[in-house]
Amino acid sequence: MESYALWDIDGTLLKNGAKAGSLYDIAVAEVTGFVAGTASPGEHGKTDGQIISERLAQYGLDPAHHSAVGARLDELSTEANLGPNRRELTAGVPEALAAVAAAGWTNALLTGNSPTRARVKLVGAGLSEADFDWDMSFFGQTALKRSDITAAARVGLAGLTSVIIGDTPSDGSAADAAGIPFIAVATGVFDRSVLEATSARVVLDDLVSGLPGLLDELKRIGSEG
Ligand SMILES: [Mg+2]
Repeated sequence: MESYALWDIDGTLLKNGAKAGSLYDIAVAEVTGFVAGTASPGEHGKTDGQIISERLAQYGLDPAHHSAVGARLDELSTEANLGPNRRELTAGVPEALAAVAAAGWTNALLTGNSPTRARVKLVGAGLSEADFDWDMSFFGQTALKRSDITAAARVGLAGLTSVIIGDTPSDGSAADAAGIPFIAVATGVFDRSVLEATSARVVLDDLVSGLPGLLDELKRIGSEG
């Protein structure tokens, strides 16, 4: 039976981007003409669809702008992530992806990003598109909450073994909602103690020191399959 390791991107495979949050407001401004004041904090673990929806509501703008803002966000992200604002891998990512694949798992994505944003962020940071199964990956450009993405994964991967690897409590609660096991990695903004309070089967400090623990847990999950 096929097994899928569903990786989160921001804070998990990639270090969080310093300017990542500002692109939403730039896209909103370019589509609607509304210029926001200060950037909104605390978006970690939210989906693109959710952030766009919340900002349109916060600014009193028509929710019908959602798809145009998302499309512009894709373009802005492509310029940034393949150009001046390339993102950086967290430590040990290529080795971890290779080890997970060698253990018989297919690497795929479960992310709040759109497919375009996922692709340009990962490729810009030096990974290859071929590192992931894009057909068995799940994205968040229209999702209004993270559990919408995990619900889609539960349907798309019905009968198959899967696990979600992410850096936020939201990854954990969305995994719980779909009955998918969760592994946490403390390379984002949440530290170990916060992640230990989630349903995480194991909390990894990072993908270097945590790689043996990750592989052990995958073996355990696979045997439960
Ligand atoms: Mg994340």
